[in-house]
Amino acid sequence: ARQFTRPLNDLANQWNTLLSAIAGAERVFDVLDEEAECKDEAEASELKEVKGAIDFDNVSFSYGEGAQTLRSVSFQASPGETVALVGPTGAGKTTLIQLLCRFYDASGGRIAIDGNDTRGFTRESLRSHMAFVLQDPFLFEGTVRDNIRYGRLDATDEEIERAASLANAHSFITRLRGGYDAQLKLDGSGISQGQKQLLAIARAILADPSILVLDEATSSIDTVTEIKIQEALQRLMKGRTSFVIAHRLNTIQQADKIVVLQDGALTEIGSHEELLEKKGFYSKLFNGQLDSSVLSGAHS
Ligand code: ADP
Repeated sequence: ARQFTRPLNDLANQWNTLLSAIAGAERVFDVLDEEAECKDEAEASELKEVKGAIDFDNVSFSYGEGAQTLRSVSFQASPGETVALVGPTGAGKTTLIQLLCRFYDASGGRIAIDGNDTRGFTRESLRSHMAFVLQDPFLFEGTVRDNIRYGRLDATDEEIERAASLANAHSFITRLRGGYDAQLKLDGSGISQGQKQLLAIARAILADPSILVLDEATSSIDTVTEIKIQEALQRLMKGRTSFVIAHRLNTIQQADKIVVLQDGALTEIGSHEELLEKKGFYSKLFNGQLDSSVLSGAHS
C-alpha cells in the first residue's frame, strides 16, 4: 500500500492548508470554487444569522467508486455545545468536517444548520460562520499582525491586539523583534509550533464564528505553552458550537458530547460517563485497553 501514501498525504496537506485559510476569509475559496467543487445551487441563499444547531441526519458519503466512507451517521449538536469526534485514523472524522463546510456534499442524508439544509446556502456564506484551528496552522509570509487579521480583514489594530491577548499570544508577540510587525517566514521558522497555534486561536477569536473546528495537535508542545493553548481554547469555544477532532483523552473527557466513529459508522454517542458504562470502544480507550495512539496518525 506504500504507493498510496503520498497522494493521500498530499490531499490531507492541501485540505489542512485550505481549512486553516478559511477563518472568515474567502480568497482561498474563490480559487477553489473555480477549480473543482460543485457549484452552489441556483437558488442558494446567504446564510446570515446562525445560532449553531447542527444536525447530521443519516449522512452517507463515498469518495468516488470505493466503499462508503461515512455510513448513515446521525447526531446533533446544540448551539454552544462541544462535540468530540473520536475514532481510529481513517474512521471518517475529517470527512465529516469536510461535509459540514461543504468541501464535498453528502451522497445520502443531509446536514442542517439551525434546521435548514446546508445545501440551500452559498458555500461562502456558510463558511463565513466557521473558523478552524488545526494542528499545523496556515501562516503566510507577512507580519504577525496581518496573519491575525486574516481572521477578519477589516479588523483594527486594537481589535487584533485584543484578540491576541484573549488568545494568550500577546506576551510572546511583544517579545518578538518587531512585535506585531515582526515578519513571519513562509517555512514558519522563528516561532514554535505552540506559538503558531496561539496565532491561529487569535485569528479565530477575531473571526468570531458561531461554529468552530479544532484539530488537536498530536505533536508534543511544551507544558507552559500547552496550558496557554488550553486556556485560550476555552475562551474561544465558549458560546460556539465546536467540533473537536480529539487526540487526547482529557480533552475528550471535557466535551459535552462524544461521538465515536469507527469505519465510517457512528458506534457510540454520549457523555464521558455514559460511554464508560457502555464498555465499548471509548471505555476501552479510556481504561488503557487500547493504545491512545490509535487516535493520531494520518493527519499528524
Ligand atoms: P479520519 O479523519 O478519521 O482519520 P478520514 O475522514 O480522513 O478519517 O478518512 C476516512 C477514509 O476516507 C479513509 O479510509 C481515507 O483513506 C479515505 N479518504 C480520505 N480522504 C480521501 C480522498 N480525498 N480520496 C479518497 N479517499 C479518501
